[in-house]
Amino acid sequence: MLRLDRYTERAEYILPGTGAAASCEIEIRIDPMSGTATRINRARRGRPKQQESASPPEHANGCPFCPGNLESATPTFPKDFYPKGRIREGRAVVFPNMYPLSSLHVVVVFTPEHRLEIQTFTKEEIAEGILASASFIRLASERGRPFHFLGWNHLSQAGASILHPHFQAIAGESPVSSIRECLASSMAYRVREGRCFWEEFLEAEVNSPRYVGRTNGFSWIAPWAPMGACEVIGVSDGQFSSILELETDQVFGLADGISRVLKGYWSMGLRAVTMGVYSLPPRSGEGAFRLHVRIMARSRRIGCDRAFLELYGWEVGLTDFPEEYAAAIRGFF
Ligand SMILES: [Zn+2]
Repeated sequence: MLRLDRYTERAEYILPGTGAAASCEIEIRIDPMSGTATRINRARRGRPKQQESASPPEHANGCPFCPGNLESATPTFPKDFYPKGRIREGRAVVFPNMYPLSSLHVVVVFTPEHRLEIQTFTKEEIAEGILASASFIRLASERGRPFHFLGWNHLSQAGASILHPHFQAIAGESPVSSIRECLASSMAYRVREGRCFWEEFLEAEVNSPRYVGRTNGFSWIAPWAPMGACEVIGVSDGQFSSILELETDQVFGLADGISRVLKGYWSMGLRAVTMGVYSLPPRSGEGAFRLHVRIMARSRRIGCDRAFLELYGWEVGLTDFPEEYAAAIRGFF
């Protein structure tokens, strides 16, 4: 019997302006064969879109994430989730996504500055964004949503509708499909090979032409078979499965690596990026899984770099060899 499973989640937030409580329904459908999830929220049709050509650095022209607008244009958490309304760490701010794909789906504006050039993002800005995200992840975990996914789309070819630099995070009762798959593969690898894949990966790749560099607590490597253009993986050197296990200086090490990869991308003429953090609840995976981040560039040559091979073939067509772009990015470590 084919199982056509679906369930709904409801996201709740306080509307900007009126201060009225609002909510939004997300339907989550599970593929009967692969078990992967598809999230549908009809309200996302109404998302505002900023045009790249019309986005000079001045914040006067109505960017909802710029200082002066953010307080009046973005929603706040319901009081029973977070009484202060928005989570702040340094200059980073976290608030509910108005067009969510999960009952807990947030926007993390990691800098108040409306700058789009990726080589200008400092490790301090990125670190504050990660620390703010971790605060949200911890709150969600305390409220029965222990799984999380932190990601970043930068510029429209990476899928961003608002250009002001921002991460997004979602939290749920189960992991997103890619993290579930990664955990399953990591566990299966250890059963098969008798070793932790991630330990072996770090050992083997540190002396390879794909090695990029090291920052505090993280090693940066271009993967053998990248999932996207000029992809780099940053793997925790410590036996951590969760972003919540990192000390502040290790968060800075993670942010430092991301900022260096971005400078490398910029030097190669790459402007848009997509990032995903593979993180589980603390002490998950019995030592078989490691906290890591994957970051890729998004092509500007054509409108969209995900086509039939990527979308329906689940394979990736690329133009750059990891050994070559690793050498270029290494110069920034
Ligand atoms: Zn802005």
